[in-house]
Amino acid sequence: MAKFITLFKLLPKKHQVILAVLVMITLLLMFIPPESAQASKQTPSNTSKTRYDVPLAFRTPDAPTVQNIEESGEVEASEQAAEAITADLADKTSEALEPQVDKQAPNVAELEHFEVKRGDTLAAVFQRASLTAREVYDITQLPLAKEHLIKIMPGEEITIAKDADGALKLLQYRIDAISTLTVNRDATGYHETVAAKQVENRQTFVNATIKSNFWNAGVDAGLNPAQIMQLAAIFGWDVDFALDIRNGDSFSLIYQQEYADGEYLRSGNILAAEFINQGKRFTAIRYADGKYYSEDGRSMRKAFLSSPVDFKYVSSNFNPKRLHPVTGLVRPHRGVDYVAAIGTPIKAAGAGKVVEASYNQFNGNYVFIRHNATYTTKYLHLNKRKVKVGDTVKQGQIIGTLGKTGRVTGAHLHYEFIVNGVHRNPRTVELPKADPIASQERTAFMALSKKLMASLNQQKQVQVAMQQ
Ligand SMILES: [Zn+2]
Repeated sequence: MAKFITLFKLLPKKHQVILAVLVMITLLLMFIPPESAQASKQTPSNTSKTRYDVPLAFRTPDAPTVQNIEESGEVEASEQAAEAITADLADKTSEALEPQVDKQAPNVAELEHFEVKRGDTLAAVFQRASLTAREVYDITQLPLAKEHLIKIMPGEEITIAKDADGALKLLQYRIDAISTLTVNRDATGYHETVAAKQVENRQTFVNATIKSNFWNAGVDAGLNPAQIMQLAAIFGWDVDFALDIRNGDSFSLIYQQEYADGEYLRSGNILAAEFINQGKRFTAIRYADGKYYSEDGRSMRKAFLSSPVDFKYVSSNFNPKRLHPVTGLVRPHRGVDYVAAIGTPIKAAGAGKVVEASYNQFNGNYVFIRHNATYTTKYLHLNKRKVKVGDTVKQGQIIGTLGKTGRVTGAHLHYEFIVNGVHRNPRTVELPKADPIASQERTAFMALSKKLMASLNQQKQVQVAMQQ
């Protein structure tokens, strides 16, 4: 260095200036990292928070909206109705399935299975089975057979048995996991039945501790993607799944599983759940109205969503003393940054009115929502705005997409939560209490809640005891 300075002093004045400028530029280039690197630098080093990555397959999840939960409630209601109907049918026709084939075994040749191919009609399948056009016609005159065989899909199977003369004796078609159509021919002609398996609901218990991330913990516990999203949606007003999940958080839940004649069919709704997030315990019980309430009967739905972004990874926390990545100055960062891919949908945290939707060089595209006299939320650096000034927005409504407009170093949502004109940390601020369950439902709800929570706790203890 000393040699360099001596050499530098020997140079003519003009060269000294040029060299100094070059050195400055080089230094500048060295200290300005590329944008992507800066984005990750926003992680405050003074927190012990860990970033939880989300598996690639899950990078663009569909918003687990409130409607989804309600819809699934409706689905369940209709499914239960369907169960009642099919259970009824099963009583009447429980002998209609394959055992009947065995009884008639002396008259019936072997069962042949024909797979439905692309473009197949029933006539095409019958032709492959060496059956006649007359038989196709006769079968399609039967109301149930007509209803179901008209809708055959590639990959499905039609099972056929013929008598010694090669004439159709028996036809079977699996309508779905529960129902099977059977057509028999005897001396009096064709007879058709639809037999349904008994569907039974079982309650399944799951308990998991988060070690790498929430998603993996759910998968390891045997939950399917829809259930993991449902769990995040149920607790979406209390827990910010994008920022607040930590190692050691845990959850347990009881959910429905449907079985048909002892065979697993599908997973149903979450009936009861407990989520422990950074030592804080949250509970949820599904009531007859298809909505979720805490164990003491408060609605899980609250005035504000915990996160305006579905859980993805995030690099910055609420931190009043962070280094601003552009100016290098310490300035209060009055908000929460959610780092995610450009185009990620941004949701209104609560219902309200759009009071600003515009662009400036600092905020980029931004949207301000006034919820009432007390609360306002702000959404900055959007790629696209999807609302205009004066619009009324619902909670969870998409108001724009995440971007990198304005003075930013990388794509992120800057989210501010303002209470009576003062910036507050949305994740620690006291928020209005949620509505309790209707008073006339309270007794029934509390009975259900006590039963489910007792079951949850008991199974948790059993599992803990087994692990020791
Ligand atoms: Zn920010």
